[in-house]
Amino acid sequence: MLEPLIYERSRHGRRGATLPALDVPEQPVDSLIPRGALRTEGPRLPEVSENEVVRHFINLSSLNYHLDRGIYPLGSCTMKYNPKMNEVAAAMPGFQHLHPLTPESHVQGALRLMYELGEMLKEINGMAGISLQPAAGAHGELTGLMMIRKYFESRGEQRHVILVPDSAHGTNPASSVIGGFTTASVKSNAEGTIDLDDLKAHLASDVAAIMLTNPNTLGIFERDIVEIEKLLHGNGSLMYMDGANLNALLGITRPGDHGFDVMHINLHKTFSTPHGGGGPGAGPVAVNSRLEPFLPRPVIEKHGDRYVMNWNRPLSIGKVQTFFGNFGVIVRAYAYIRANGAKGLSAVSRGAILNANYLLSRLRGAFELPYGTQPLHEFVLSASRQKEKGVRALDIAKRLLDYGVHAPTAYFPLIVHEALMIEPTETETKESLDYFAHALLEIDKEIETNKETVLNAPHTTPVRRLDEVRAAKQLNVKYVPGESSGDSGSVCSAGRPDSFSPR
Ligand SMILES: *Cc1c(COP(=O)(O)O)cnc(C)c1O
Repeated sequence: MLEPLIYERSRHGRRGATLPALDVPEQPVDSLIPRGALRTEGPRLPEVSENEVVRHFINLSSLNYHLDRGIYPLGSCTMKYNPKMNEVAAAMPGFQHLHPLTPESHVQGALRLMYELGEMLKEINGMAGISLQPAAGAHGELTGLMMIRKYFESRGEQRHVILVPDSAHGTNPASSVIGGFTTASVKSNAEGTIDLDDLKAHLASDVAAIMLTNPNTLGIFERDIVEIEKLLHGNGSLMYMDGANLNALLGITRPGDHGFDVMHINLHKTFSTPHGGGGPGAGPVAVNSRLEPFLPRPVIEKHGDRYVMNWNRPLSIGKVQTFFGNFGVIVRAYAYIRANGAKGLSAVSRGAILNANYLLSRLRGAFELPYGTQPLHEFVLSASRQKEKGVRALDIAKRLLDYGVHAPTAYFPLIVHEALMIEPTETETKESLDYFAHALLEIDKEIETNKETVLNAPHTTPVRRLDEVRAAKQLNVKYVPGESSGDSGSVCSAGRPDSFSPR
């Protein structure tokens, strides 16, 4: 059902709250507020009853697909179920109302939590130092690259090239450029991993580092990682690990042991903070001892039984975030790791790998798997067979919405033609995986029997196929009766309601 704007529900004089009778003498408002600060007319706020407010927002919340409704197999994003207990922890008044300028001696508990989370993340990844400041994975990438830059500056070396595999996430080259580097793309081989010959051809004296995602965006472990490490370090270059796919490695193997010098960890992917829609995340950056002096400051340290912020770090790249980072996300990650423990974390990754491989085994007959045979926590199918029959990955993704499940990531990584990138995560049951497989297999059959239905999907969602670029650039959420299920973009292009003029 479509939900009107709250301004359209508004009726003059309707109230959602009752205030007690005034117990002080009434004063005209212009005797209290300077003339220049007074409005000439009242604000145009919606006038609605309390239950209309509640219904409005409940209805809106159910228009969106989200993890509390069903499987969200968005590859590369690790959209797993996030225990509600973490929300309770993050909302504890002692955490939630903490003022960031409170003196160190009064926030020992919060500092301890950050220190201990840092220690646990170092242990999980085999790294020597950490900063929790970066607010997202991409921010962690930039932070790591700034440290790499400062490292080479401190040695008087001119190195300005970052090597990025052609399967990499777009943030890798973007962060490199913002960090003051240029990038060079390294090819993947037929297995979907780094082509060692192409890597060797790129190794020159100006290479600062390689940025590797492991397992990579195809869900495949870089089995030549030891050789890659030897090549890069032998060339005087550093190793950056994009840790977005850490959900596959917990308790199984550690990036630090593979020789990575620096990595980021997406707490909102691996360590259970609800994300998507630009919500807050955290991208802590962990380093080995070589890069430790360059960490953002302050670094949280434990001196005896006190937790302190050490600002006295002359080689630090400085602060990369106001105050401490996204503290609520840090609390959630801490709660999640403590609740799982070492064995539980290892079970997380093993479950994620098992679920992905089970789902793949159900889908392989109908869809092409261009790279690898045994991926880890995610896999990338190609809809190229379906495309020969006139149906694209996009159409399949849209049709999945009619089956009541969220579509997987599509058209990424770029090296897979008509890519459908699927990451079921460890938190889905066998029934849920079976339903998702059933939906994809049914759609594949529909291509033979009912192709138009697939091509015109979705049919059951509040809006149909939008002009996605226009919808993003000209945000307009106004519902126009009669245009609801119309053609591309009609909902987004409708005019603003006359009664609402935001200031
Ligand atoms: C998600 C992701 C990133 C970026 O992380 P954000 O937290 O979204 O900034 C980088 N690399 C890979 C492989 C990712 O999946």
